[in-house]
Amino acid sequence: MTGILLVQGDITRQRADAIVNAANSSLLGGGGVDGAIHRRGGPAILAECRALRASRYGRGLPTGQAVATTAGRLGAQWVIHTVGPVFSADEDRSPLLASCYRASLRVADELGARTVAFPAISTGVYGWPMADAARIAVAAVRSADTAVEEVRFVLLDAPAYEVFARQIG
Ligand code: ADP
Repeated sequence: MTGILLVQGDITRQRADAIVNAANSSLLGGGGVDGAIHRRGGPAILAECRALRASRYGRGLPTGQAVATTAGRLGAQWVIHTVGPVFSADEDRSPLLASCYRASLRVADELGARTVAFPAISTGVYGWPMADAARIAVAAVRSADTAVEEVRFVLLDAPAYEVFARQIG
């Protein structure tokens, strides 16, 4: 069974087999978690992302999918990049958000990663309300069929941590 752990802090400071990046489909970097991961992880990550754009993902990584690269100088073996949906009040995009967690865990299984750190995908510039995002994230991880032993949600601030803690129960 997969254990779920909550940590408040900076995901780029975590030690885990894999760290998940809330990327955008260009895979070429951005703000938030993405910017922090590339800054601390160094240029090797971006080099692999560029290679992925030149090969498998010429049109970018589709929303809800995941792909791994090296973690460069981060305290992990891999970064798993996944693209969250932009929140929409008119359209229910929650299956895509759940898919980010499931697809990332599937990639983790392929790599043999046993500990995986996730940020709260889509809750930054993509605008997803934290409580709803936490509900979707926890449900997706709990229902995933995976060999990953520990999923660690790394929340940047205390309010986000509290929201996830209430969701875990
Ligand atoms: P998205 O584009 O998917 O919304 P963001 O990176 O903008 O992704 O934000 C996702 C969440 O990660 C937000 O709740 C944001 O506060 C949080 N966050 C930003 N930087 C970090 C970090 N270094 N470590 C952990 N969480 C972070």
